[in-house]
Amino acid sequence: MTNLAAVMTAPETIELQERPEPEAGPGQAVVAIRAVGVCGSDVSFYRYGRIGPYVVQGDLILGHEVSGEVLSVGSGLTNVVPGDRVAIEPSMPDWSCAQCRAGRYHLCPNLRFLATPPVDGALVQRMALDARMLFPMPDSMTFEEGAIVEPLSVGLWGCQRAGLRPGDDVLVTGAGPVGLLAAESARALGARTVTITDVVRERLEVASRHGFRVEVSGSADSAETDSAKTDSPARSAATYDVLLECSGAPGALADGLGRLGPAGRAAVIGISKQNADLPLHTLNWNEITISMVSRYQNTWPLGIALISSGRIDLTGVHTHSFPLAETAAALAIGASDPSAVKSIIYPQDVEALAR
Ligand SMILES: [Zn+2]
Repeated sequence: MTNLAAVMTAPETIELQERPEPEAGPGQAVVAIRAVGVCGSDVSFYRYGRIGPYVVQGDLILGHEVSGEVLSVGSGLTNVVPGDRVAIEPSMPDWSCAQCRAGRYHLCPNLRFLATPPVDGALVQRMALDARMLFPMPDSMTFEEGAIVEPLSVGLWGCQRAGLRPGDDVLVTGAGPVGLLAAESARALGARTVTITDVVRERLEVASRHGFRVEVSGSADSAETDSAKTDSPARSAATYDVLLECSGAPGALADGLGRLGPAGRAAVIGISKQNADLPLHTLNWNEITISMVSRYQNTWPLGIALISSGRIDLTGVHTHSFPLAETAAALAIGASDPSAVKSIIYPQDVEALAR
């Protein structure tokens, strides 16, 4: 039996290669990877060979939004058994440093992460993983939903970092997959209203179908969409309790902060490419809190519970499906098709989709 992987050998080049059959060491399980979501970071590595300080050197396997099925387990394992269907957390901290011992394993200075160079990701048919990264899912959850626990986790952790409380009015800037899932997180955690802004109308249409208020970015005063107008006739622009900045767009943070009321709380989820010019006097006066977000911690059990209980609506998030041999097409489609929200690659299907 071959163990095929989609390997990025150079920017914009993916080759199918055979990898050694994995074995489960102590504390590990071998997992058949069943679904891998395509993330913007995968696309950036594919196109440019780098993201900030992370530069791809040599071959790299992409993919960190992952679910699968446990095939075999090594010694010393209690949380999974062969046959378990699992959602997979891509973080691999050292579990021993001061940050890990303080309960902040996501800030571990020795953190390794699937598909962040030089660590390979999960676009492979079978791989051995630390069982602490594996979270069994109920039968009602699909492998696609299991993979989406990863981007959902960004939203869940952002809401926690923002101190979101039931009854809050929430503004989400950016309606891509992360923004949409952050909005779903906010609603599941008790937000009273959730408004999403973006410049791309196709994205706002998806958000609107999820029942969120939508608004074209930069149009708060003059050109709100119809649904925003009818849903919120009496709101002034500056009364949100929580901002979840998911776009990373220049100016989005400053604009969003300007729409928070006194004691407003913001979580910065989108990673901006430049420094922000913020109105500190106004932020001081209103005691605005800004929390930065670096991935997530301890969100898989919550994500699985919210999805499997129907509190998170993933309708329309998974839009495109690809077999392993079409990984390059999966990585490229977002640039050409504005209807693409989340592409999923199926490593067990090599040339064609068996579903
Ligand atoms: Zn650590």
